[in-house]
Amino acid sequence: MTSADADLTGTTYDVVVVGGGHNGLVSAAYLARAGLSVLVLERLATTGGAAVSAAAFPGRDTRLSRYSYLVSLMPEALMADLGLDVTLVSRSTASYTPVVRDGRPGGLLVERPEGPATAASFRDLTGSDDEYAAWREFYADVTDLAHVVAPTLLEPLPTERALRDQVDPGIWRDVVTRPLGEAVERRFRDDTVRGVVATDALIGTFASLDDPSLIQNRCFLYHLVGNGTGEWRVPVGGMGAVTDALARAATEAGATIRTGAGVSAIRAHDDGAEVDWHDGERRRTVGARTVLANVAPWVLRILLGQPEDPATKPVGSQLKINVLLDRLPRLRSGVDPAVAFAGTLHLAEDYSQLARAHAEAAAGQVPTVLPGEVYCHSLTDPSILGDVPDGTHTLTYFGLHTPATLFDADPDAKATAVARAIASLDEHLVDPIESCVARDAAGNPCIEAKIPQDVERDLAMPGGHIFHGDLDWPWAANRARLDTPAQQWGVQTDVESVLLCGSGARRGGAVSGIAGHNAAQAVLAAR
Ligand SMILES: Cc1cc2nc3c(=O)[nH]c(=O)nc-3n(C[C@H](O)[C@H](O)[C@H](O)COP(=O)(O)OP(=O)(O)OC[C@H]3O[C@@H](n4cnc5c(N)ncnc54)[C@H](O)[C@@H]3O)c2cc1C
Repeated sequence: MTSADADLTGTTYDVVVVGGGHNGLVSAAYLARAGLSVLVLERLATTGGAAVSAAAFPGRDTRLSRYSYLVSLMPEALMADLGLDVTLVSRSTASYTPVVRDGRPGGLLVERPEGPATAASFRDLTGSDDEYAAWREFYADVTDLAHVVAPTLLEPLPTERALRDQVDPGIWRDVVTRPLGEAVERRFRDDTVRGVVATDALIGTFASLDDPSLIQNRCFLYHLVGNGTGEWRVPVGGMGAVTDALARAATEAGATIRTGAGVSAIRAHDDGAEVDWHDGERRRTVGARTVLANVAPWVLRILLGQPEDPATKPVGSQLKINVLLDRLPRLRSGVDPAVAFAGTLHLAEDYSQLARAHAEAAAGQVPTVLPGEVYCHSLTDPSILGDVPDGTHTLTYFGLHTPATLFDADPDAKATAVARAIASLDEHLVDPIESCVARDAAGNPCIEAKIPQDVERDLAMPGGHIFHGDLDWPWAANRARLDTPAQQWGVQTDVESVLLCGSGARRGGAVSGIAGHNAAQAVLAAR
């Protein structure tokens, strides 16, 4: 993959990609296939950025998807274009939400596909069929919207009006123009059902459901549009398998990938740019006709020589915990753990709990009851486990409403947040999760936790924001300037020879490769 000893100084490439995250690799693959000379410079020892697998626990083979873990937004057309040998598998459970009502443990099961057990579960929890009817109607409407938006993601940006005219005005209002909380409260009555709907608006996005900025609506839309279905699937072999396939596609097409190559400056001029990077021993410089920035826009501005601006720095808000278990825990509700943990298991995500947690975090406190969700990858894809005793499983926790600012203010906040995440799970278990956690070679529990500061330190995602910054609508404003190919594809910067190809591009958020594809198309269209 890496021509580690070649001295590239003095060379000029058609395209230099700054950052070897999955999006940078997608750009490299498309452009090298089109016959352009492409160099990818990645500061870490491995490619993939937040889409990687790692053996996180000493003496344990299991390769966990360390940061991102499920795939929805990667278009099948992109995977086919690049000939990716990647299998995405459906989970048999969409979600399970354990609840305790009147002191009695129960839960809400949503199967995939939804069948009679889902309808029965809604009935048991809510006392009638009304909530399930509302649920089906809402998601049917959202699917209609997704069918309009999804096919445009690999095309030049449509305008907002062009899409709006194809969609029922009611769902357009509910998802696009009014704070999502209004639709959730109007369409659903049950606190748990409302919360299950609302969580998709809060993944990696610190907002209330009523936020007038509508960042929660944009986050919701991204979570529901993937391939027109919004289904989140399990990458067989973990996220590393996705990145490895992309790196192969790029190198087989002729791109050069240089790891251990941190870029320190991009000096743009009329005909292109010079890119300074360091290989650990010395500084080198390479020329580029076009630079594609896989780094976040906030990082790019620094590389272009602008001062670091703390006021515009993104603020990540998630807590990710990876766990290796000796056995799956039993639930107090009596549901089969292999069913409950196969999908997204919602914890403390009732609508009222989400609102309370947001208010506490906004006031500078770690939420007393921390909302989050867990899922077991190895139930759907045991291939990541490696050589482990029978019964071993992985568990991934993704916590909401833990903005980076909480951890800046209080050195104990990380331990507090982890303890509260575990407490929210333990509330629903027969035995505490601690009794199921595997041990590493040194006898330590196999648990690793990543707050936004850890993600920033590991991956240079500013503020640990999982999307490089808050998400944009996946279309252009009606009056947007769409004169250049870069503007038409939503990948422009203030500098003509530098385009965005990462999560911070319009339509870039999540593991999708869409930003990488679109930046490559903008480069090709400009030639
Ligand atoms: C904890 C967590 C959980 C997530 N869960 C999901 C999920 O389940 N599903 C999903 O779709 N999305 C998820 N996301 C979001 C998703 O992972 C990201 O949006 C996506 O991976 C971004 O990809 P990218 O290629 O644009 O950027 P990145 O993955 O950020 O890659 C950028 C690359 O640039 C490199 N770089 C940075 N600075 C420099 C420099 N100066 N010089 C050279 N290289 C540099 C970095 O090392 C990195 O490799 C999650 C993210 C996190 C952090």
